[in-house]
Amino acid sequence: MTTVKDTQRTIRLIMEQLHEDASFLPDETGEARKRLFHSGMEILTTPDKVIKSYIRVSRDNQEIERIPAYRIQHNNIAGFYKGGIRYSEMVHEAEVENLAVLMTLKNALHELPYGGAKGGVEVTPSKYSKRELNLIAKKYVQRFARDIGPTHDIPAPDMGTDEQTMDWMVGEFKTIHPGQNYLGAFTGKSVENGGAAGRRESTGRGVYRSYLWLVHQWARAATPESVAGGVYQTQLETLRTLLQKNEQGKAIDVAVQGFGNVGAVAAEMADTCDHLHHHVVAVSDHQVMLHHSSGLDIKALAAFQLRHRRLPTTQEELESIHVTAEIRDPGELVTMDVDVLILAAIEDQIHEGNMKDVKARVLVEGANAPIDAVADGYLHDDGRVVIPDILANAGGVMVSYVEWKQDRVTQVYSEQEVISDMYAQMEASCEKVFSLYFSKGLPSIRNACYNHALRRLFLLLYRHGKLY
Ligand code: GLU
Repeated sequence: MTTVKDTQRTIRLIMEQLHEDASFLPDETGEARKRLFHSGMEILTTPDKVIKSYIRVSRDNQEIERIPAYRIQHNNIAGFYKGGIRYSEMVHEAEVENLAVLMTLKNALHELPYGGAKGGVEVTPSKYSKRELNLIAKKYVQRFARDIGPTHDIPAPDMGTDEQTMDWMVGEFKTIHPGQNYLGAFTGKSVENGGAAGRRESTGRGVYRSYLWLVHQWARAATPESVAGGVYQTQLETLRTLLQKNEQGKAIDVAVQGFGNVGAVAAEMADTCDHLHHHVVAVSDHQVMLHHSSGLDIKALAAFQLRHRRLPTTQEELESIHVTAEIRDPGELVTMDVDVLILAAIEDQIHEGNMKDVKARVLVEGANAPIDAVADGYLHDDGRVVIPDILANAGGVMVSYVEWKQDRVTQVYSEQEVISDMYAQMEASCEKVFSLYFSKGLPSIRNACYNHALRRLFLLLYRHGKLY
């Protein structure tokens, strides 16, 4: 299982790499340099503030329920704290802390002027009525109102929350803080309420865009002398094989785990892509996997998902939308014999227990931390291409930034402007990560992402005199 300890270990490792890199911070040497790096490591592996509270909700059956809720602010050296609020039965403090650290790294990697935070409420939203969910959202804001704000900490949706949740939260924030720029206190709101056009689809679109960039740009790039051979070469050949399949008139087979805002959108993008010919042969949610070896009707399934918030689970339901598919166990999806696996569900889906059965050569992390640390090392050493979460799934927070800017000035961006802006940022980030991966011969793509993010965070801490 991925824990905050794994992320902290990776941060330490990269900080050691940076310490060894004489070209980074060349003016600091010897003991003084060591102290600075030690201090940076301490700061970046510890959250600034952990807030735990209980939300008390009167259920429709008159019972009072006590629900643990969190907001963890990890670091704000790069800008205001920023990150989603997750509703899930599995929410616990260490998970929220890990997700908060990942937000700091994600925002730093993409050079967004934000730090990192995360919120969580230990509930399964599908088990609550609309009235109860409204109450939970309001009470969350009541508990954390003093720690949230447009120039302090700006929450957004995450797993289990959506634009409705954000609209409820903004409403409560406005009541508590009359006169403040309340719209800027939350992103991921509905468009009618100041949200950015296309925010819901933005994470899935960005996930797909990072994969597309990789196949087109990396596979076509010449291999630099410094990294020829080894894992790098195998990864390159994998990507070239995908292109060759298409050139030979064969489709690239794709499986998508998770069919919510991220997975369904990424699947639709793959299905309708003009540049590569894919067959999305399998999709799953927590209840079901649907499989068809020559490709599923993703459009019809996505329309069903939007209406019902789940995939069809019976042949009758499939027939009602004219979709042909075999119904299988969702647990089988990650080991399907496909070329590309998009992981857009939850954490720890690939671990020591199943990593050797994974057949996909390209894996894209649409969710946060779907591959645990052990499996990540194994897959990389085996020459698979893993596009890490903090690189691939940042489309959401990039568009959050557009929304936040939009709520502070009077300009409103069209959906097309929002998409082009996000694509341009995603491509620029991919370019940076991969040139770092090649030029420095770094151990993995994830390592290169962390390296870029931590370089930036460390320099900011240094320049702002925060290292002691
Ligand atoms: N929850 C999303 C993420 O993990 C978006 C966060 C945001 O927009 O602030 O990146």
